[in-house]
Amino acid sequence: MKVLVINCGSSSLKYQLLDMTYKSVLAQGLVERIGISGSQLTHKRGDLKKVILGGLSSHSEAISLVLESLTNPKYGVIGNLQEISAVGHRVVHGGEKYASSVLIDDAVIQAIGKYVELAPLHTPKNIDGIKACEKIMPGVPQVAVFDTAFHQTMPPKAFLYGLPYELYEKYKIRKYGFHGTSHKYVSMIAVEMLGKPLSESKIITCHLGNGSSIAAVKGGKSIETSMGFTPLEGLLMGTRSGSLDPAVVTFIMDKEKLSADQVNDYLNKKSGVLGISGVSSDFRDIEAAASQGNLRAQLALNMFAYVVKHYIGAYASVLNGVDAIVFTAGLGENSISMREEIMRDLDYLGAEIDPVKNNVRGKQVDVSKDGAACRVLVIPTNEELMIAQETVDIVRCSFNASKGRTFCAS
Ligand code: AMP
Repeated sequence: MKVLVINCGSSSLKYQLLDMTYKSVLAQGLVERIGISGSQLTHKRGDLKKVILGGLSSHSEAISLVLESLTNPKYGVIGNLQEISAVGHRVVHGGEKYASSVLIDDAVIQAIGKYVELAPLHTPKNIDGIKACEKIMPGVPQVAVFDTAFHQTMPPKAFLYGLPYELYEKYKIRKYGFHGTSHKYVSMIAVEMLGKPLSESKIITCHLGNGSSIAAVKGGKSIETSMGFTPLEGLLMGTRSGSLDPAVVTFIMDKEKLSADQVNDYLNKKSGVLGISGVSSDFRDIEAAASQGNLRAQLALNMFAYVVKHYIGAYASVLNGVDAIVFTAGLGENSISMREEIMRDLDYLGAEIDPVKNNVRGKQVDVSKDGAACRVLVIPTNEELMIAQETVDIVRCSFNASKGRTFCAS
């Protein structure tokens, strides 16, 4: 069964075509600068790379080009679009309605449309992507896999803010959490690596990349996470401030004469490790600058490690102990020094890194000292595979339901 995974960002589109019989990637690519001058598609099939330049003004034009590339006789991987059995879409916001993935129909598109206000940059593009696929591949089942869904198991004491309750009732202001597909995927792999029953597992997953979040996963369910109403809350990130005293926002607006949009821009695009270091939002650049004696770059790294450690301590407490701490995403998978710095002095949790085992990048490895009670795991995330797997499960499930059977493939 071949599944196309589509991930529409605000001006970009990532895709993968997977053969789910072998869980292998047949082709993948990225369309950049959609709606901006200089748009281009980079299509990869194994070692073959094809770059197509084109004035793409919308996500639906981008999807047409992706499908043309997949069926292209020279660099494509399928003879025709009928070979695609289903499409899985990464959808950024499922609000409180979606605690799991769902087969898309008109009612689902309408429901997703209600969350435009909560994720204004991404939701309209997600809908454009779904509609474009519907038009070009009518009848092919499409599944929405939500970034927020995994965290819908958080209890109210964790997801509510200390605001008047009416604001939650009126506007649904609450913590939603993001990166759910990644936290779910790596926590599942961690349980396999631990060889412990899922129901007894207590795992802290650290998704550390350009955007970063941490989750506490108990018995396979997210019970707490660091991102909130939007992906701005929690850790300081590449360009995002993370959590701060809300009074700082109005203070900056007053002092710097900023509008609501401008302050939003400040907090989302000019802050985080970029704002602290003044060097870059990219951790590789910051690590390089710090190693050459740049003190603000070093401070940014120290602040980042400190805040991650802070959340690990908090989440060990809400979980009442921890079996494994997982590092994933660009920084978590690749930065040996950052993992070392975060894990320093966490031996009170029974977690200690073995420096020799930790000398690894981008591989699934247990990097704990022998005999440590709490394991430290590096697990490369694979959101596309998770989206494709959920798509297969949902499609099989609805096929069986249409046959009047209740069996759903696991
Ligand atoms: P992501 O958002 O998951 O793609 O992660 C991107 C972040 O991971 C960027 O800040 C990169 O600098 C960081 N990153 C990727 N590889 C490395 C590496 N080898 N060492 C340190 N940071 C890395």
